[in-house]
Amino acid sequence: MKNLKMYINGEWVESASGESITVINPSTGDQVALVPMGKAEDIDAAVRSARKAFESEEWQQTFRPHERGYILLEIAAKIRENKDDLAKLETIDVGKPLSQAYADVEAAARYFEYYAGMADKILGETIPVEYGIIDYTVREPVGVTAHIIPWNYPIQIISRSVAAAIATGNACVVKPAEDTPLTALKLAELFAETKLPKGILNIVTGYGYDAGTALCSHRDINHITFTGSVPTGMAVMKAAAENIVPVTLELGGKSPNIVFSDCDQDAALEWVVKSIIQNAGQTCSAGSRLLVEAEIKEEFVAKVVNRMKELKVGPGISDPDIGPILSKKQFERIESFIFAAEAEGIKVLTGGRGVDVEGGEGGSYFAPTVLDHVDPACKLAQEEIFGPVLSVFSFETEAEALQLANNTEFGLVTGIWTNDVKRAHRIANKVRSGQVFINNYGAGGGIQMPFGGYKKSGFGREKGLEALRNYTQLKNVALRYDG
Ligand code: NAD
Repeated sequence: MKNLKMYINGEWVESASGESITVINPSTGDQVALVPMGKAEDIDAAVRSARKAFESEEWQQTFRPHERGYILLEIAAKIRENKDDLAKLETIDVGKPLSQAYADVEAAARYFEYYAGMADKILGETIPVEYGIIDYTVREPVGVTAHIIPWNYPIQIISRSVAAAIATGNACVVKPAEDTPLTALKLAELFAETKLPKGILNIVTGYGYDAGTALCSHRDINHITFTGSVPTGMAVMKAAAENIVPVTLELGGKSPNIVFSDCDQDAALEWVVKSIIQNAGQTCSAGSRLLVEAEIKEEFVAKVVNRMKELKVGPGISDPDIGPILSKKQFERIESFIFAAEAEGIKVLTGGRGVDVEGGEGGSYFAPTVLDHVDPACKLAQEEIFGPVLSVFSFETEAEALQLANNTEFGLVTGIWTNDVKRAHRIANKVRSGQVFINNYGAGGGIQMPFGGYKKSGFGREKGLEALRNYTQLKNVALRYDG
C-alpha cells in the first residue's frame, strides 16, 4: 500500500494533523493507498501559497500568456506519455472499465491542449463612447480559484477546470474527492516536472465536510468550481455567499433519451444502452430515462433488455462493460431505490439486484437494470440514482414526450432520436436542458462544447470557450486623450 503526500506550494507534504485517509479499490475492496487527511489548516496553507504565487511578479509580469500555454501543452504531452499509468490508476481508484479510464485520460490531455491554445487569446474590446475617449475592456484572471472534484470522473473533471483556470492566469487549489484522489496526485507530479511557478497548482486531499468546507468558506478565494451532488452544491453556494464569491455549479441529472418510431433504431439502441452503463451509471449525464414512442415500445425495449443481459460485469481492470459501484454505501443507495419502487408496482425487466463477479469478491456490483411501469412522479423517476438503472416511459405524442422530458428538477442533457429534423428542432427548442444531442449522445466527450445544467443541474458552463468566463473578470478602462 502506497503512502502518498499532497502538493502544496510546490512541496510534497503530510497533513498538518498527520492523519490519513485510506483509498480503496472498488473492484476488490483492497486498500491501495493512504493519502493525507487535509483539514482547514492545510487548506489555509494551500490558499496562502496560491495567493502568493498569483500575486508574484514572476506570474504577473515575467510569465507571458503564451508561456502558460506552453506549460499546458507540456502537461498534455506528459499525460499521453503516462497514459498507461494514469488509466490504470483511475481504474483502481474509481473501478471503471480500463478502456473508459483510457478515454478519460485522453480527454484530460485534450482539455490541456484546448485551453493551452487559448492562453494568449483572452481578448477585450474597444467600445465607442465619445470623441477624445478610448474605452477598452480587459479580461483579467479572478485570482485564486477553488476546485472541488467528485469521485466519478476525477482526472477529466480536474483537467477541464484547472486547464481553463491556469490558461487564464489564475492560481488553483484543488480538493479531489476523498474516495478518488490518486490521479489528482499523479497530475501534480507531472506539473512538478514543469516550470510552472510553485503555488500555482495546489492539491489538498481530504474529506468534504472538513477540507471541502474549509476551502469553500475561505476568505481569500475568488471563485469556486464545484462538481458534485445537489445537496453539497447548496452547501457550497451558502459558504460562497458569506464571502461574495462566485460559483460554477455542475450538479446531477436525470437525462432522457427520447426515441421516436421514425429514428435509426440501431443507433438509438446503441446509445440508449451506452449512456446508462458508462461508468456503471455513475455519470451526471447518464441517459437514465428512456422515453419511447408507444408504437415501438415493446419491440425497442425488448432489444434494450436483451442488450443489457449480454453485458459483462466485472472488475475494472479486466475491462468489462460494467465495473463495480464505487462503494457499499452507493450500492445500498441504488438498491433502496429499487426496493421502494417495487413496492409501488414497477416492473423489473432485467437486473434490479447486485451480482457476484469472479475476481471482484470484495467489491459491490449491480446488474444492468431496466424498469418499466415507472410512475413519472415517483422518486425513481425524479431522483438521480447513480447506477446502471434505466427507467422506461412511453408517449403517444410529441407534446407528451416533451412534457415527460421536462418533468424533473434536473436539466443537464437530452437525447432526441428521430429522422424528422423539424420535430428534432422543435423539441431542442423547448427542452429545458443545457445540452441537447440529436441522433447522438455525448458526442465523444465534447471538450469544445459548453456543458452545464438548467434547473437543479446547476449553472455556469464548463468546457468550450464559455468556461473561460468562469476564470476571468472584466475591467473597463476609459482614457481621455483629447477634449
Ligand atoms: P458529492 O457532492 O458528495 O461530493 C463532491 C465533492 O464535494 C467531493 O470532493 C466532496 O468531498 C466535496 N464535498 C462534500 N461535502 C462538501 C462540503 N460541505 N463543502 C465542500 N465540499 C464538499 O458528490 P459525489 O458523490 O462525489 O459525486 C457525484 C455527484 O456529482 C452526482 O450527483 C453527479 O451527478 C455529480 N456530477 C456532476 C457532473 C457535472 O459536470 N454536472 C459531473 C460529475 C458528477
